[in-house]
Amino acid sequence: MPRPISARIHLDAVRHNLQLVKRTAPSSRVWSVIKANAYGHGIERIYPALASADGIALLDLDEAVRVREFGWTKPVLLLEGVFEPDDVETADRHRLTVTVHCDEQLALLNAARPRERIDIQLKMNSGMNRLGFRPGDFERAFRRASDIEAIGSIGLMSHFANADDGAIDWQIDEFDAATRHLSGTRSLSNSAAVLWHPRAHRDWVRPGTILYGASPTGCARHIEGCGLRAAMTLSSRIIGVQTLQPGETIGYGRTFTADRAMTIGVVACGYADGYPRHAPTGTPVAVDGVRTRIVGRVSMDMLTVDLTPCPSAGIGSSVELWGEQIRVDEVAEPAGSIGYELMCALARRVPVSIGADIPNKTEAHIA
Ligand SMILES: *Cc1c(COP(=O)(O)O)cnc(C)c1O
Repeated sequence: MPRPISARIHLDAVRHNLQLVKRTAPSSRVWSVIKANAYGHGIERIYPALASADGIALLDLDEAVRVREFGWTKPVLLLEGVFEPDDVETADRHRLTVTVHCDEQLALLNAARPRERIDIQLKMNSGMNRLGFRPGDFERAFRRASDIEAIGSIGLMSHFANADDGAIDWQIDEFDAATRHLSGTRSLSNSAAVLWHPRAHRDWVRPGTILYGASPTGCARHIEGCGLRAAMTLSSRIIGVQTLQPGETIGYGRTFTADRAMTIGVVACGYADGYPRHAPTGTPVAVDGVRTRIVGRVSMDMLTVDLTPCPSAGIGSSVELWGEQIRVDEVAEPAGSIGYELMCALARRVPVSIGADIPNKTEAHIA
């Protein structure tokens, strides 16, 4: 028998979250963002749940080609665009929409002779200061793009620096002012803006993390009551039990000392599975459906949990590390991280199965 750790992917949860996006931004079309191997869930696995999306957005050219090979005929957007002439050829062959964020990418397209014109999303740097043309330069870039033979339709996009804490109006204002005289679809909203900033919804929204049921802020509390469902459950079992006397410690570094007699469960899950090593004592976990906490330091293959609230638990008891009961962000936040990072960092050694639609179908993790 393999180690009792596994991840389950719930396609019904992804479908549900996508419908929730569509209800929240009813006038917008949806780019489903599946970069980073669908935020760690596996593009192949997630794909069947995306049928009602209007487009798929990702970064990696190979992933984009795979999506075409699955039979996706609607738009596919490369969020960072192309890097070299070969990429333009691939974009042409597979009818990919490319982000264009700099003059070098315009030059690549200007030099290309694609069979069909390539649709682009012209990206503005409205304040994030990562990718994009500055507002004062945007109209010039738009005119230049319009003159390039290889370019088809031009959509206008930008990305928010802090859609999560409310202060995004200044970026919207920059964008609106700089695009006032330009035609084309608008696309601004990541997950946070989908949930909390209707003013930013426009023609296309680009949700990623909420499709997987994680919080755009990294704080589980912020999505309470939103109705989002967790797309991934990471679970394992208790493989050992220890009874501690007052004053005894647990694990490496002896970071936790029992102040009374207590029973500790040893769980087959460690940082080599993708559980954050920095998760401190107190990080929530569920044993046989009962919420408790991890205690002591997370090691490579194991972690330890306080069995006080679940006295009937023992070897073989089921443990939910994150999922529907324990939000991934509840684990991430005390470890100084965000749900995004934990989902993406699920280790290859964890077997992954598809939960809802194909029960009991276990397969190797597809990286
Ligand atoms: C990753 C990404 C998104 C999705 O972000 P979430 O916060 O996961 O919704 C949207 N737009 C761009 C340009 C991105 O890179």
